[in-house]
Amino acid sequence: MSPITHFLTGWVFANCAKLGRKDRAIVTLASVTPDLDGLGIIPELLTRNSAHPLLWFSLYHHSLHTLAFALVISVVAFALGTQRWKTGLLALVSFHLHLLEDLMGSRGPDGYQWPIPYLKPISSALHLTWQGQWQLNAWPNVLITIVLLGIMLWLAWRRGFSPLEMISSKLDRGFVGALRHRFRGGLKARS
Ligand SMILES: [Zn+2]
Repeated sequence: MSPITHFLTGWVFANCAKLGRKDRAIVTLASVTPDLDGLGIIPELLTRNSAHPLLWFSLYHHSLHTLAFALVISVVAFALGTQRWKTGLLALVSFHLHLLEDLMGSRGPDGYQWPIPYLKPISSALHLTWQGQWQLNAWPNVLITIVLLGIMLWLAWRRGFSPLEMISSKLDRGFVGALRHRFRGGLKARS
């Protein structure tokens, strides 16, 4: 799935637990980190018409979609977190939600399934795929993203903070303020 979907998944998941702002950001970002191996797309696209194209995306995408990297991220989350054990464990789950989403809906336009080499580099034997996997741009991904976006907006309206808190408190306050102003009517009608 797209990094945006993974990000929103991580955010909604982080909000299921009682976490402070920093820990919330760590758990959210843990859900995006497996795709760091997808950054090879940039040199690959830039060099694709050159004499020596770099195939970093084709070669390495999904090489960090592993248990080993999940553990690395959890240790980093543990080290950076305020509520260390909680944040480390939630980051581990958040990372695996990403893998689950990729299994469900990340089939390439050419039909390639991008198997997940879960046990690499210890073993190359296990490659996770799911027969029912849909395409990256298929409607379930769009639907899941819209639903997650809706939950994110509802959480921001209700709790008073949004993912923008990761960039700037001022920006976040402005966004939540605008959201609450826009949907003030709904609040009144309910009470
Ligand atoms: Zn991925």
